[in-house]
Amino acid sequence: MKALGDREVWFVTGSQDLYGPDVLRLANEHAQVIASALEAATAIPVRVVVKPVVTNPGSILELCQAATAAPACVGVIAWMHTFSPARMWIAGLIALQKPLLHLHTQFNSDLPWAEIDMDFMNLNQSAHGDREFGYVATRLRHSRTTVVGHWQDPAVVERIGIWARAACGWHELRRLKLARFGDNMRQVAVTEGDKVEAQIRLGAQVNGYGLGALVEAVRAAPETAVDRVVADYESSYTLAPALRAGGEQCAALREAARIEVGLRTFLEAGDFGAFTDTFEDLGDLAQLPGIAVQRLMADGYGFGAEGDWKTALLVRAMKVMATGLPGGTSFMEDYTYHLVPGRPQVLGAHMLEVCPSITTDTPTCEIHPLAIGGRADPVRLVFTADAGPAIAVGLLDLGERFRIVLNEVDVVRPPADLPRLPVARALWEPLPRLRVAAEAWLLAGGPHHTSFSTALRREHLEDFAEMAAIELIAIGDATTVADIKKELRWNQAYHQLARGL
Ligand code: MN
Repeated sequence: MKALGDREVWFVTGSQDLYGPDVLRLANEHAQVIASALEAATAIPVRVVVKPVVTNPGSILELCQAATAAPACVGVIAWMHTFSPARMWIAGLIALQKPLLHLHTQFNSDLPWAEIDMDFMNLNQSAHGDREFGYVATRLRHSRTTVVGHWQDPAVVERIGIWARAACGWHELRRLKLARFGDNMRQVAVTEGDKVEAQIRLGAQVNGYGLGALVEAVRAAPETAVDRVVADYESSYTLAPALRAGGEQCAALREAARIEVGLRTFLEAGDFGAFTDTFEDLGDLAQLPGIAVQRLMADGYGFGAEGDWKTALLVRAMKVMATGLPGGTSFMEDYTYHLVPGRPQVLGAHMLEVCPSITTDTPTCEIHPLAIGGRADPVRLVFTADAGPAIAVGLLDLGERFRIVLNEVDVVRPPADLPRLPVARALWEPLPRLRVAAEAWLLAGGPHHTSFSTALRREHLEDFAEMAAIELIAIGDATTVADIKKELRWNQAYHQLARGL
């Protein structure tokens, strides 16, 4: 079973009737062979479903409408084995509402120099058939990802897999429901945004609930369910002595488990894939949810603190994209700096809510006072993120559009223990270096909350932004501040024009 094997992409081969049945039979056979190879590739996490070669406007439109309507179909791969006059594709491409990957490949890799004749030339003509298709897609302003190379090249297969993952994230966002418990943290700007516009552009529903509804679910949590969660805490983590059975704060552990049961029940009952809360509005909850949020994130839920629904949507979409990959994805905040010459670093954390999917260590389960919020001490998991490459991704609302800001970073292990820091954390070095990365991030208006992933790469988000038609500002090894300034100015003009009246 593939990591996202309940989802599929359709493999569509274009041709025309001009060449006669023998060529079309071969085209169908070749399409089967290529699609089977892609289906068998572990780098492609979804099913690859081959469709019969299309040869006329009616069958193309029918196929694009069917792909748009099919719940399991997350995208379409199109390849022009022969020449397929592209006016045949106009109605279909206008109807197609799923992501498109234009695969510019060829069945054979080598030319058979001694045997090549005009029959061979007429069968294997994607070199110009795909140019005809690309022209019409461009003229229609049809958003797509174009992948060039032989279909057996592992780099091509990998590239298709990245696109398929992005398509799964986009597919998820279109159906996603998010529950907000309380509103935003008072006076905070960047966590605000236009929820109606988000539903129009992204598809996600952001729905608000009073804390009373959540408190009721927590109070209704069955004791047997709470018992099971406490036992799970005991077997999965290293419990602080005070939290162990008979310890002076074991009741707080049980209360944390009760919050987890209530929260999970609420989210499952409403078919929510993401949620937010805020420490400023906890109703009658005894503690700020800490371990509950961490474990729900580890199970795939998107989360944003302080009412940050945009980051919560992004965390959920990125978790779906990353399904089955090593590493993890978490809500994160750029918290404090190691601002030294040489190798300056960012220490990322939050009050409590960092997802344990970004560590392979066994977290410790601890209880400490929280300086803000005025509630009972909250239980939390404490750990340090694994070293390796990662991306920090923020989603902001510029008023007239959304923007994604991304920074490629290297996660490093802290040079010393942090015995008095009672929260989960990640330490990283932004690319190209902190001075450039932070200046670019600030100029782009990037938020302090991010979706932080050690599983995904910049390319996943590039494809995702293309599908969502969201501006992406990517900061990485080759970034200069001068270039970013120009990009921001040009994008401002472009997006104003592209939006139309
Ligand atoms: Mn925060």
